[in-house]
Amino acid sequence: MDFGLSEEHRIFESMVKKFVEKEIQPIAEEYDIKEEYPMHLWPRMSEIGLLGCKLPEEYGGTPADNFNLVIVAEEIGKVCPGVFAGLGVHSYIATPYIDLFGTKEQKEKYIPPSIKGDEIWAIAITEPNAGSDVTNITTTAVKDGDGWVINGTKMFITNGTICKHVVVVCATEKGRSKKGKTLFIVHKDTPGFSVSRKLKKLGFRASDTAELVFEDCRVPNENMLGEYGKGFYHVMKGLVQERIITAAMGVGMGQACLELSLKYAKERVQFDKPIGSFQATGFKLVDMAIEVCAARQLTYMAAWKDNMGQDSVTEVSMAKLFAAETATRAALNAVQIFGGYGLMMEYTVQRFYRDTKLLEIGAGTSEIQREIILRRLGF
Ligand SMILES: Cc1cc2nc3c(=O)[nH]c(=O)nc-3n(C[C@H](O)[C@H](O)[C@H](O)COP(=O)(O)OP(=O)(O)OC[C@H]3O[C@@H](n4cnc5c(N)ncnc54)[C@H](O)[C@@H]3O)c2cc1C
Repeated sequence: MDFGLSEEHRIFESMVKKFVEKEIQPIAEEYDIKEEYPMHLWPRMSEIGLLGCKLPEEYGGTPADNFNLVIVAEEIGKVCPGVFAGLGVHSYIATPYIDLFGTKEQKEKYIPPSIKGDEIWAIAITEPNAGSDVTNITTTAVKDGDGWVINGTKMFITNGTICKHVVVVCATEKGRSKKGKTLFIVHKDTPGFSVSRKLKKLGFRASDTAELVFEDCRVPNENMLGEYGKGFYHVMKGLVQERIITAAMGVGMGQACLELSLKYAKERVQFDKPIGSFQATGFKLVDMAIEVCAARQLTYMAAWKDNMGQDSVTEVSMAKLFAAETATRAALNAVQIFGGYGLMMEYTVQRFYRDTKLLEIGAGTSEIQREIILRRLGF
């Protein structure tokens, strides 16, 4: 079942595949080793319309729906998830907050340079002591004359060192209430804003991750994004799209592990037979194929429900959870199928082994997805 993918989606998919093969595949290992984001890709991704997907045409955006984002996440995820992380956070997570919740002035000012790839965005929710529990954030924004003064620390922020603007979730009222949170836009050159450290990671090394500090960082009133006190609810809305693309990345990564393992299991001979012909190996391939197929169907179903404007929270959590766990299992089995070579840095499966784990942690952990689904089941 293809959930109604159109001819346009197929043309888009083939364009993305070509781009990934030509521009990303050749540099995937290099940027993983360098632990750097390939900055030269931004204008190229802009040229082919990847940065404007689903954003308003009047600001340079490209007509698209969730399927387009799923295609981009799956295709880049297959080759270099770190590259998708930077793109995804910029174009499909952070900039949409401006589109969804921004004023006309904010949209006119910020969306066109974002789509051109001239100004990169990040979103800062997580803090050293507040991850899954967003109500517990302690970065404060205090009203001061015609502006707000922000103080606090944000942790694990994708695009942290390369961004020009950050959407920052702040506590504007004391206590853990969902109603006391508000979003602000902070420009990187604002006095009091600093990148305290670039973080070194196990996986997703081609993405840029940093800790950000706000010390008496003053922003004008016009930098408030969305409604006062609605920040928590804005974040929950944004998480739907974030989880759909994370699920799609998982599908791509699972598919890559399957393809690499299949090829190797046909070529590698032990006891005079290709190792795939031993049931113990062959069944691993079978399970991978089934799970990746199921993860893809769940992801498309979640994307489709959200495209239709239906309540998709349950399906989105199911897809995100299942695709993430499918990808980690696939990577684990891929390394096993490759034997000792699976642990060698020159074989790509080790990178997927390191990269897949993030999918079970970012955009709400697997445990949090299970909690959401449990509540939707009536508990
Ligand atoms: C590479 C990377 C990039 C990231 N990018 C961004 C970004 O751009 N912006 C941003 O804001 N954040 C970002 N994050 C943060 C990410 O969203 C958090 O790591 C995630 O939400 C989990 O929070 P935590 O790490 O503090 O873990 P915790 O919330 O401390 O969780 C630790 C463990 O406790 C479990 N747990 C917590 N609460 C419950 C519960 N109620 N029930 C059951 N189990 C529970 C969790 O499932 C987990 O296993 C990024 C993280 C990484 C690693």
